[in-house]
Amino acid sequence: MSELAATIAGLMGRAKTDLAELVAIPSVADPRQYPPEECRRAAQWVADAFTEAGLHDVHLAETPDGSHAVIGHRPPPPGAPTVLLYCHYDVQPPLDDDAWTTPPFALTERDGRWYGRGTADCKGNIVMHLTALRALGDDIPVGLKFVAEGSEEQGTGGLEGYVAQHPEQFLADALLVCDTGNAEVGTGTATITLRGLVNVVVTVETLAGEIHSGMFGGPAPDALAALIQLLSTLRDPATGATRVEGLDCEGTWEGVGYDEGQFRADAGVLDGVGLTGTGTVADRLWARPAVTVLGVDCPRVVGSAAAVPPTARARVSLRIPPGTDPAAARAALTRHLTGAAPWGVRVSVEDESAGAPFRAATDGPAYAALGRAMDEVYGKPLAFLGQGGSIPLCNVLAETYPRAEIVLMGVEEPKCLIHAPNESVDPSEIEHMAHVEALFLRTYADARERGR
Ligand SMILES: [Zn+2]
Repeated sequence: MSELAATIAGLMGRAKTDLAELVAIPSVADPRQYPPEECRRAAQWVADAFTEAGLHDVHLAETPDGSHAVIGHRPPPPGAPTVLLYCHYDVQPPLDDDAWTTPPFALTERDGRWYGRGTADCKGNIVMHLTALRALGDDIPVGLKFVAEGSEEQGTGGLEGYVAQHPEQFLADALLVCDTGNAEVGTGTATITLRGLVNVVVTVETLAGEIHSGMFGGPAPDALAALIQLLSTLRDPATGATRVEGLDCEGTWEGVGYDEGQFRADAGVLDGVGLTGTGTVADRLWARPAVTVLGVDCPRVVGSAAAVPPTARARVSLRIPPGTDPAAARAALTRHLTGAAPWGVRVSVEDESAGAPFRAATDGPAYAALGRAMDEVYGKPLAFLGQGGSIPLCNVLAETYPRAEIVLMGVEEPKCLIHAPNESVDPSEIEHMAHVEALFLRTYADARERGR
């Protein structure tokens, strides 16, 4: 075992105590569910811990959504590059309390894993950063910038707004966005793509008002039937694959795959029910558009009458892979929905939200240093994953700092069940990823020198 590995192993007791303290603070950034003081306590805990770990001027900064980001830095040695360390201290609500085997806000060890809300997402990554910094002590050959976001799980965009207002505070050569994880325990992985998103609301109108289905049903155009028919054209009838006229729906994924059995288990697909689409699971998840009807407004079963519906609407979400422009995707989806309307019914499509997909450039010195660090710690080459969701902050960072390399990594492997009841973390991943991070911070400056 190297000296660094031994130092980190010796810090794991402290990592557990730290994580237990953090998990005990229910820092859900939703004042309707938890008092805002809890988030302030978590923020202060983070500020104190990173001050002790050697960062300068660690403070709480209010962001446009009212949440507080914890911000600090460590000046670079002359001529050395700077690395930004990102994490967030807010957590998802526990959801169904009864579904938790042990209390969500008490770190509990079971079968070698540490259970509790936020043990992985993202308090496990906070402790990973702390452990890496403690292991390095004063021996850090790069400058550091640090930010712990306070409302990531709410999607209210506090830090995105703050970055836009204060770009100089986060300027760095490499950005370690630590809110993802390895493909599986023991396989060092970077997440290099995120899907983008286009949401629209489609409304169908057919009649001046509700009419009796006995007297008029048959010739009277049923708006709900028209909507069902319209929505069904967004999928291949045999395979269920997403089909949007004018969009490439046949992309392929080049990183590590996603085992079909594992996917079925992770997604809770019922026995005997087939998966939708064609190609590999990874193709469908990370390289092709995917449509979901998120909601439909129509008469409810209870209380419905013998009437032909005159209007119906649906919220349609389209996840788009890297390489697809959100504006072009929205235009294609709108054209498709308008063009597929049966019987001359009136269709209107209203734009809701849109977000761009993300793809990291992996040919720079930060990825070279990361690849070597992963290889040393895990004994195999760095793997690449995609992620189906989006992290809007990544787009803001990529736009604000076009020359910076962005690395998405962390301790959130699939068994962590982030956002679900019984979230947990594998402590060996905290140990190993802290080792990776420490090695990265030690070697990145040299990798960058060599790359010149
Ligand atoms: Zn997270």
